Amino acid sequence: MSAMIEISGVSKWYGPIQVLKDCSTRVEKGEVVVVCGPSGSGKSTLIKTVNGLEPFQQGRISVDGIDLSAKTTNLPKLRARVGMVFQHFELFPHLKIIENLRLAQVKVLGRSVEEANAKGMALLDRVGIKMHADKYPGQLSGGQQQRVAIARALAMDPIAMLFDEPTSALDPEMINEVLDVMVALAKEGMTMMVVTHEMGFARKVANRVVFMDAGEIVEDAHKEEFFGRPRSERAQAFLSKIL
Ligand code: ADP
Ligand code: MG
Repeated sequence: MSAMIEISGVSKWYGPIQVLKDCSTRVEKGEVVVVCGPSGSGKSTLIKTVNGLEPFQQGRISVDGIDLSAKTTNLPKLRARVGMVFQHFELFPHLKIIENLRLAQVKVLGRSVEEANAKGMALLDRVGIKMHADKYPGQLSGGQQQRVAIARALAMDPIAMLFDEPTSALDPEMINEVLDVMVALAKEGMTMMVVTHEMGFARKVANRVVFMDAGEIVEDAHKEEFFGRPRSERAQAFLSKIL
């Protein structure tokens, strides 16, 4: 297998505080990696470095073989090919749902409005939101908005998808409708890096689990190994709290 995302020896500081400590891991093409760990352990920071949203001072990250730090790398172009879904949907509130799906397709990929519309509607259909295409984000539930955010990312034909706690701002009854979309995506072979504490999701589709604590990758294991017998005390303590 070849790596879609390769993170090697990445360290990052905010001023004097080191928030990523020599982090290394890789995500193969078609693989799903779940990242978990206590609050403040660096999960969001790590995932944001992968699509160039956060600079880092040491180490190397490559996506589809392209080195993020190389002077010749067109970072905005690469970023457009890596989908990112955040905890708080971040849809444009003043744009209709279908307009949210069209915008970057037209502005970044140069697609025609018709083409972007067709692609947008097909994806809304896939996530079960087609009937709400002409509504505004504020008229939809949190679970529906998050499904729109996933569809919007998919409209860019991403080579990989990054998720940062996509269900943690949702009411419990909406979590599964979002996880179901993510499970389907995983089963279709999308390369995914998912920060989540939804261990049911991890058990169902993850290939590997990365456990972070205090800026370090403490464990990076196949899911059976991670859930069956985590090696570190820190991971054991974390699991005993959330399972
Ligand atoms: P997690 O997602 O695991 O909760 P984060 O990646 O958000 O953790 O944060 C890791 C550490 O970096 C935390 O100690 C946090 O306070 C710190 N941090 C995050 N963003 C900033 C920032 N913009 N400036 C300074 N410190 C930050
Ligand atoms: Mg976070």
